[in-house]
Amino acid sequence: MSVKNVEIVVAPKPAHFVGDGFRVHNFIPSAYHLDMKRMDPFIMLDYNSQFHFGATDTPRGVGVHPHRGFETVTIAYQGKVEHHDSAGGGGIIGKGDVQWMTAASGVLHKEFHESEWAKQGGIFQMVQLWVNLPAKDKMGTPQYQAIKNEEMTQVDLGDNGFVEIIAGNYKGQQGPATTFSPVNMMNAKLKTGGKAEFTFPADYTTAALVIEGSVIINGEEKVATDHFALFQNEGETFTLEAQEDSIILIISGQPLNEPIYPHGPFVMNTREEIIQAFDDYNNGKFGYLED
Ligand code: MN
Repeated sequence: MSVKNVEIVVAPKPAHFVGDGFRVHNFIPSAYHLDMKRMDPFIMLDYNSQFHFGATDTPRGVGVHPHRGFETVTIAYQGKVEHHDSAGGGGIIGKGDVQWMTAASGVLHKEFHESEWAKQGGIFQMVQLWVNLPAKDKMGTPQYQAIKNEEMTQVDLGDNGFVEIIAGNYKGQQGPATTFSPVNMMNAKLKTGGKAEFTFPADYTTAALVIEGSVIINGEEKVATDHFALFQNEGETFTLEAQEDSIILIISGQPLNEPIYPHGPFVMNTREEIIQAFDDYNNGKFGYLED
């Protein structure tokens, strides 16, 4: 086994709003170097770093919009989000929970701050990650997985802290999410001085986002809060050492190595399939969802 070295550490770009409820730093695909091809199978990552939203009776968020061809994964670190889609999926996720929506052939959905949370306001912190689907699954049936924090697999690391598996595998244990290609997704929750070691296949696209605290990777690369480290697609093993109590999101997925043809909320393999997506959307084939 050889070391998986850090290829680049990326600072968060200036934040922008998605709708009026998500103040995000985009890392994938627009940050330096982190385009869809390089990050395959991860095609989008928006990170709402800690941000205070004031109290309101009109929940902030993003209204009805379509998706086709991939999965949207929302990881809540602070605050609450309520979600509904035209395939009947939906629910509320709060601190530590994950919503894993497989848009596949197409859904309409909307994402808002949960109304009772919005009335109080508070610190909001969330990641939305888009995982591409293999060509053979892009036109499959939409699905929805609500993954509560207590359903995640916890791997105890003693005094170091623990790892909470959302999807894939860590030290022989399996996370609850079903995926269409090999994807590992987990939070390392480490105490000051706590260490953890991770091993993934060399060719997997692997990255770490520091949600809280700061870490040293492989004993040499310091990564601060809200920064993103991309690893080389060679070598298998890396280590994290927390410099303070820290939460680090780790993602590692096998590249699909298929053509990627994105357009707005649709990510397909060819231009023809994008034109078809617009036709289907305009002809009401994504179903119906009330505003
Ligand atoms: Mn969406």
